[in-house]
Parts: sequence; structure tokens; C-alpha cells
Amino acid sequence: MDLERVVVVGASLAGLTAAASLREQGWDGHLVVVDAAMELPADRPPLSKQVLAGTMDSAAARQPLADRIDELDIDLRLGHRVEGFGADDHRIKFFNDHELTADGVIVATGANARWPAPRDELPAGVHVVRTLEDSLALKAELDTAAGPLVVLGAGFIGAEVAATARTAGHDVTMIEAAPQPLARVLPSEVGAAVAKLHRDHGVDVRVGVGFASIDAGPGGRVESVTLSDGSVVPASVVVAGLGADPSIEWLSGSGLSLGNGVVCDETLLAAPGVTAAGDVANWFNPTFGERMRVEQWDHAIESGRAAAVRLLAEAGGDAPQPFASVPWFWSDQYDRKLQMAGRPSGNDEAVVIDGELGAERFAVAFRRGDRCTGVLACNRPRLAVVSRTRMTQSLAWDHVVGA
Ligand SMILES: Cc1cc2nc3c(=O)[nH]c(=O)nc-3n(C[C@H](O)[C@H](O)[C@H](O)COP(=O)(O)OP(=O)(O)OC[C@H]3O[C@@H](n4cnc5c(N)ncnc54)[C@H](O)[C@@H]3O)c2cc1C
Repeated sequence: MDLERVVVVGASLAGLTAAASLREQGWDGHLVVVDAAMELPADRPPLSKQVLAGTMDSAAARQPLADRIDELDIDLRLGHRVEGFGADDHRIKFFNDHELTADGVIVATGANARWPAPRDELPAGVHVVRTLEDSLALKAELDTAAGPLVVLGAGFIGAEVAATARTAGHDVTMIEAAPQPLARVLPSEVGAAVAKLHRDHGVDVRVGVGFASIDAGPGGRVESVTLSDGSVVPASVVVAGLGADPSIEWLSGSGLSLGNGVVCDETLLAAPGVTAAGDVANWFNPTFGERMRVEQWDHAIESGRAAAVRLLAEAGGDAPQPFASVPWFWSDQYDRKLQMAGRPSGNDEAVVIDGELGAERFAVAFRRGDRCTGVLACNRPRLAVVSRTRMTQSLAWDHVVGA
């Protein structure tokens, strides 16, 4: 396959990493990177932390991605929403009916934050946090809000927003339908420790209860949230931390296999000449022997690199390498840095391997049969890094945690 033009769809972390990797590998063809956004996306982790807290400005949040552009010799097309694609002919259709064909395509369109209801049915004052604009809009409202913040969902982003707002002195209620925060990913005793952390800082954490409605006051602004148990929580501002859906609408009818994301093989190949990376990619991870889609910063970088190398391997006729990874995530809440290697699920057994669960420093390993599926470390960065390194060698429990 001749690879004269590659189009990367999505100019955020995964897409720009893939573009940089193509150049690092010595490929010097026509490299087009397109994004629907009018400006380069910001680095996302600070959006629920420093940007929301006001300790990082917009320019600094954009800088990490902007820094990469100059050296890459790319044809960057911002404000170019892609609305159609054909996996057979690699034809990319833009919102304005303009079209572009490519020899290779890297799909890196990330994910969209889930709203609690169609946006035009929601009162003013309801937010999500996905983009820089989202974070700034939320901050502006919090800065002027007279009343409390209600956070719907106690996943990582909801919990971070709650921590940032509480640290800034806001009254915060966090609502989670599952029995504990982070229940989808972590066993309940670990979620309980996260709930306690927030309660100790004064957040009203309500678990095991969903929200029934978001209620507007006379001016059309949010006034309260009614919960599924009938209780009513006053709210000046609401943030939905309800997860994200992969951005795949533009791929409908493309011929690519779509499920929870773009379905790829274990090498990140979605179709001949098409690879995917970052939040949007759903691939078979041989390390864990299961399909996964990972919404994590480190994964966007690693998979971005791997998707670029995979495309070049196909063009050069080289043997494709599986993308075997140990996911890695961090989250900052109050004075705690949580770092997690691996991919535990809520059903895994949690074994405390350092300190005491919920203390200022501790570490927990997750066990499924004779395997360690993950290690979560709180303020124990070295232990987290060592665990991850061991997991990249083998998931055997004795190898990661010791007999
Ligand atoms: C608030 C927040 C905090 C986070 N904090 C952490 C953290 O502390 N630790 C951690 O490990 N991870 C964190 N993450 C996750 C991490 O930032 C993401 O996994 C990562 O940014 C994903 O990168 P991506 O390039 O795959 O997708 P995205 O960053 O979502 O980029 C996708 C790009 O594709 C573009 N696009 C979408 N559809 C189209 C289309 N049809 N046409 C053209 N362009 C399109 C979008 O405009 C966007 O720029 C956080 C995420 C958020 C939102």
C-alpha cells in the first residue's frame, strides 16, 4: 500500500500523538489533521482540577498540544467537522460537503460527555466538563453562584469536580446511583474510602440514589434536583459526571464495525488502512485477554503511537504488533493523588498491600483468580510505578504483589 496521504481525524491527545509518531518514524507524506473544534483542544486533565480552581489559565491548558504542532509539518484543519466516511475508499466527508481521500486514516475522535437529558430540555446552570469552554463556563457560574453545587455521578470526573469546588469553599452534594463512588471500576470497600474522603471534607455524599429530575425555578435556572427517593436537593449549579460516549456518529454507515467505540483488532486496525486510538478505540488487549475501551490520558498517548506504527507496518508489509497495554490513570482529589495501574472491575477482590485503606497513604491490589488486575495507590507514587512495570511483564499475582 502506498501511503502518500494520511488523515488523522481528531487533533487532541491521541490524534496529535499519532501524527507526531508518523513523523518520528520518518514518514514524510502529506499529513492532514482535522478537528471539529475551532481552536486546538486543551489538555483535558487540568479541566476538572487546575482550570476549574483558577490556578491554570486557558493558554497554559492549550500549551501542551499547541507545542507539538510547529515541529510536525502538518496540514492542520480546525473547524472541520467530519460527517461521513467510507472504509472502502477512505473518503472523508466534511460538514460543508467538501471531501478528502486518504491512503491511511487514523480515527481519534475521542468521546462526548453524557448529558442528563437533551440539552434544550435542561434549565440554565447545568454543565458537563469535557472541553476548555465547559470548564471555564462552569468556573464562571461557580464564581457567582449564591447556592450549592450538585454533582450527578461519583466517577473520577464527578469526584474531581466535587473536590475542586469544595476546596474553593462551595457547598457540594454528590449523588451516585451505585452503592459507592467509582463502583463500575473499583470494589465497594475502595469506593467507600473515596466516599469517606469526600465526607471528611464536608461534601454531602448520597449513594444508592439516582436523580429523578432537574428542576428549574421561575427564571428558568436550575433551582433543585429531585432524587429517586423523593428528596429534593437545592442547587444553584449542577454538574453531570455521568460518563462519556465514544464519538462515532460520523462513522455510521462507514462500513467500520462500531460497538462501544470503533471496533479494532488487537493491533488497533479497524479496516485496511484505518486504525483508531484514544478514547474512541475499542480493541482486544492481549495483556488482559479482553476487549476494552479506555478513557485515560496515558492510553491516548500509547495508543496514538501504536496506531501510527500499525499504519506504517501495513504500508511497509511489516508484521503487525499487538497493542498490549497496562492502562494507567491518575486522579487528584484534595491532598490525595490516586494512581491506578491495570483494569480492575467492581467484582475483583481488593487486598490492601500497603498502609490502611482510606488513610493518607495506602495501596490496594485487585485479585481475580491468580491474576492481579490492578493496583490503586494513594500518595504512593513509587509503588504505583513499580506495580505498573511488573504488570507489563506479567499479571501473575505473585509477580506483581509478591507471594
Ligand atoms: C475533565 C477531564 C479530566 C480528565 N482527567 C484525567 C486524569 O486526571 N487522568 C487521566 O489519566 N485521564 C484524564 N482524563 C482523560 C483523558 O484526558 C482523555 O482520555 C484523553 O484526553 C482522550 O484523548 P483523545 O485524543 O482520545 O480524545 P479527545 O481529547 O476527546 O479528542 C477528540 C477530538 O476529536 C474531535 N472530534 C470529535 N468528533 C469529530 C468529528 N466528527 N470531526 C472532527 N473532529 C472531531 C474533538 O473535537 C476532539 O478535539 C480526563 C478527561 C476529562 C474530560
